[in-house]
Amino acid sequence: MDYSNLEIAIDGLNERAYALRLSNPPVAKKLAEEARAQSTRIEYKFGQGCALRTLAAASVEQSASNAFALAVHAIEIFVSIGKVEHTASALMPVFCYYLQNSRFDRARTTLEEALTVASNLDDKHALSLIYFNFGWLARKEGDPARAKEFFCKSLELGRDGVNDWAYWKSRARLTELLSESGRESEWRADMELLLADVGKVDDELALTDALCVQIEGFARAGRRAEAVIAIRRARQRTCGSQSVNCRASLLLAQANSMLLLGNEPKYILKLRQTATALEVANLQVRLCSILLNLALAEQKAGLYELSAQHLVQHIDLKRHIQSSDAEYRLSEVLHEALTKHLMGQVVSAVSRSDQLSEINQQLQTALDQQAVLQRELMRLASTDELTGAVNRRQIVNDGILEMERYRHTGSPFSVTVIDVDHFKSINDTFGHATGDEVLRRLTKCCQALLRRFDVLGRLGGEEFCIIHHDTDMYGAQMAAQRILSAIEMMFMSDILPDRKFSISMGVAEVHECDTSFYDVLHMADAALYEAKRSGRNTYRIASSRTLEAA
Ligand code: GH3
Ligand code: MG
Ligand code: MG
Repeated sequence: MDYSNLEIAIDGLNERAYALRLSNPPVAKKLAEEARAQSTRIEYKFGQGCALRTLAAASVEQSASNAFALAVHAIEIFVSIGKVEHTASALMPVFCYYLQNSRFDRARTTLEEALTVASNLDDKHALSLIYFNFGWLARKEGDPARAKEFFCKSLELGRDGVNDWAYWKSRARLTELLSESGRESEWRADMELLLADVGKVDDELALTDALCVQIEGFARAGRRAEAVIAIRRARQRTCGSQSVNCRASLLLAQANSMLLLGNEPKYILKLRQTATALEVANLQVRLCSILLNLALAEQKAGLYELSAQHLVQHIDLKRHIQSSDAEYRLSEVLHEALTKHLMGQVVSAVSRSDQLSEINQQLQTALDQQAVLQRELMRLASTDELTGAVNRRQIVNDGILEMERYRHTGSPFSVTVIDVDHFKSINDTFGHATGDEVLRRLTKCCQALLRRFDVLGRLGGEEFCIIHHDTDMYGAQMAAQRILSAIEMMFMSDILPDRKFSISMGVAEVHECDTSFYDVLHMADAALYEAKRSGRNTYRIASSRTLEAA
């Protein structure tokens, strides 16, 4: 069969999708999904690659790691069919992924690779995007001078419709850099020019971006009245906007300006509205970081209840973003296998619609089963089967999150490591099954004593770990005392007749010289060792570390 007309149609679809990827990601995604399905059907590799590249670019806001996987797939396809020139743009979501995970070196290497490809081909559209991202990276690394250089390059290359997105973004960032450097009169002149120019084109995203720079610029300079007027004007100018993305950006600019002006109640209010807008727009990556900022602001304002709620929401979302990525990859692999399998049947039954609907049903059943399996897999992946406590992988994940929070807020957390005393001899005397039951009871007893935000996990064998959220070593010490007393009172004589059951514990509070969660865990472990050495059935606290130890 001749598919060439279909291929041309797919190319058209892909072009439209790619053009919409930044201004309207949901529509871009729909078009790209369609292009992808059609290309897969007729095995049109180039179509598949282009569709994947758009899907990746349009998914960056939802989940960078998802976008990463899609982009990598696209690159593989482009390389396999010798269309290397298309890999430059596909590398951008890969860059975003590294940037969001603060892996700056990788982010830079990715951009350099893309730069090589795009320079060889003199692809100005891609080059302006690449230089914009170099600028963004330099800003994140705290180098405004380099950032300025890159934004200027991006702006020059993107001029005259070559890459409108990069052109306007770069101009807005350059204006923002002026405001940040405190040169107010220069900034004002530049801002006027930017707003006048952007007013001449019909580009909602670019307009909103410029208005946000203006609002924050006034606030940064302490010009309260002008900031308020700018907010009002921005609302008027974008009031007909359908774009949830623009709405969320404007709300965030208002929030930031309130923070800059020291109006914390209003800052909190606007952050909440931003969170709602992001939720509506399903922009989960941004929502996740806003929720953290909101929780911190609320904590500072003494709104502990709300702060806790938002923190929990943040952590849940963070987990969701991560787990949905894993789910996505899993379902991709399975889905592909299923489709391949069923395609064989479809080909032989092409005119028999009854058989087709049966196949559809089979596919649906298979997909349903797969969904159930996935949920079960996700649960199993984070739970310890024997005790029902969180498993090692999950507690370490939680610890890494706590460490991140600590770096953000400076509010402490503590770690307690628990180890059963002479557990081997319990096993030897009463059997392995009794040993298991001891571990289950120990888990229950500890869980009953912990607060809602604390997490108990099983590190392995008869070793457990508690992460005490927002707790210093004195708080953790009190918890250890409570656990020790409860263990002493715990009813065990039915399974351990005539035998005293005890545990030892090591407690450590996070310290400024700790570079990762493992450092805190290691200190708690060392304290546990001390507890063991001093006769067991007790706890020890990690001696506070000096800065020289760092
Ligand atoms: P100490 O007081 O110094 O901690 O001594 P201990 O005997 O508790 O420590 P040791 O590390 O020598 O022994 C741990 C034992 O835990 C050995 C291993 O067979 C047992 N174990 C590990 N996992 C499980 C499990 O899932 N169930 C049971 N019943 N035993 C386990
Ligand atoms: Mg042990
Ligand atoms: Mg032990």
